[in-house]
Amino acid sequence: MKRKVSKKLFSEARVFLPGGVDSPVRAFKAVGGSPPFIQRGAGPRLYDEDGNVFLDYVCSWGALILGHAHPWVVAAVQDAASRGTSFGAPTALETELARHINQAMPSLEMLRFVNSGTEATMSALRVARAFTGRELVLKFAGGYHGHSDGLLAKAGSGSLTLGLPVCPGVPLAYARTTLVAPYNDLAAVERLFHKYSAKIAAVIIEPVAANMGVVPPRPGFLKGLRQLTRKAGALLIFDEVITGFRVAYGGAQALYEMVPDITCLGKVIGGGLPVGAYGGRRDIMSLVAPMGPVYQAGTLSGNPLSMTAGIQTLKMLEEPMPYQALEERGALLAEGLSRAARKAKVPLQVSRVGSLLTPFFSEQPVTDYASARRADTRRYAAFFQGMLSKGIYLPPSQFEAFFISLAHRDEDIERTVKAAEEVLKGAA
Ligand SMILES: *Cc1c(COP(=O)(O)O)cnc(C)c1O
Repeated sequence: MKRKVSKKLFSEARVFLPGGVDSPVRAFKAVGGSPPFIQRGAGPRLYDEDGNVFLDYVCSWGALILGHAHPWVVAAVQDAASRGTSFGAPTALETELARHINQAMPSLEMLRFVNSGTEATMSALRVARAFTGRELVLKFAGGYHGHSDGLLAKAGSGSLTLGLPVCPGVPLAYARTTLVAPYNDLAAVERLFHKYSAKIAAVIIEPVAANMGVVPPRPGFLKGLRQLTRKAGALLIFDEVITGFRVAYGGAQALYEMVPDITCLGKVIGGGLPVGAYGGRRDIMSLVAPMGPVYQAGTLSGNPLSMTAGIQTLKMLEEPMPYQALEERGALLAEGLSRAARKAKVPLQVSRVGSLLTPFFSEQPVTDYASARRADTRRYAAFFQGMLSKGIYLPPSQFEAFFISLAHRDEDIERTVKAAEEVLKGAA
């Protein structure tokens, strides 16, 4: 594997960009070495500046469910760009994408487009607080909901990867409005409701945790949260920025037959362009300005490029078959990794929901933040580097999900499993 050009580009980037990147996990701190600088992507593959080719299991952190540079998405975006990239005025495209989302997830009776998942969750909390007249928010350890102040407590994703459970710069008063419970622990949530019931505005959760590695909800956990929140007059917010249009067309709420009060979206609904959305019950969303008094705005919100990429992507996902294909490829990869680990006598727990999966280097099943953190991150780093040298680009952290796209073929998965067999054999 050649690295000369990327190494040079990385050292140049570090002069101007903190850590050489615009989002922390990209810098490869948890796995060592320096990141390949990407020149282009096509289908399931990435091409770097040194001429290396990688099979990509990050897919822009799940946004690219159709793979890189899907010809129909590219053509639609080019066509839209030729007519103007942003107007700061309404377009029919916004209603069109909203209609697709509402049909997939009827719980979003009304929604607002923003520019990132972070904006979606922080705005959702503002509405929830306004609606309930309460201040506290309950989140789960290892849950990641973007980087807004109140939501960084015991956050997953890069914050967990870099071992930063609290974040300097977050006002204490703000951090105090966040309660944290262990994921999958209904009794702990019940205790917090017992103590703070009338003060809790909302519970925010990734219905399938995917930012401490993939951790599925235990049977009954989400239903229990629905009951507890309803009883306490608190709102249930599903952060489906990853799971929306990923674990099923209708997201985790369709998969687990749940009706949250508010849902946050991002990633897939932008088809690889910057986007986020929050929406839910009409009586709640009616509070958002200009319909109501809760202010939230955005210069580029609902811009025609993001809307077009989202519409085109969702149109291609509307058939039931894509999710069957994603499920089958997910199963193929998960089973292949488990088999490879067994053969090599390496303890590995492969956790999966559809096309989202994480192989945890651990003896014990992973059910929450504490058990995820017991995984052997050094072993993951070695696995990561071994796979990279064989042309397989995995998430550069034990605590991020692998994402499979519709562009990944069975042959790609089989090649990945074969590479894993060789790498794990060397690691045993
Ligand atoms: C990625 C992510 C976010 C943040 O979205 P950005 O677009 O990166 O701001 C929020 N919640 C979840 C569950 C995510 O995975």
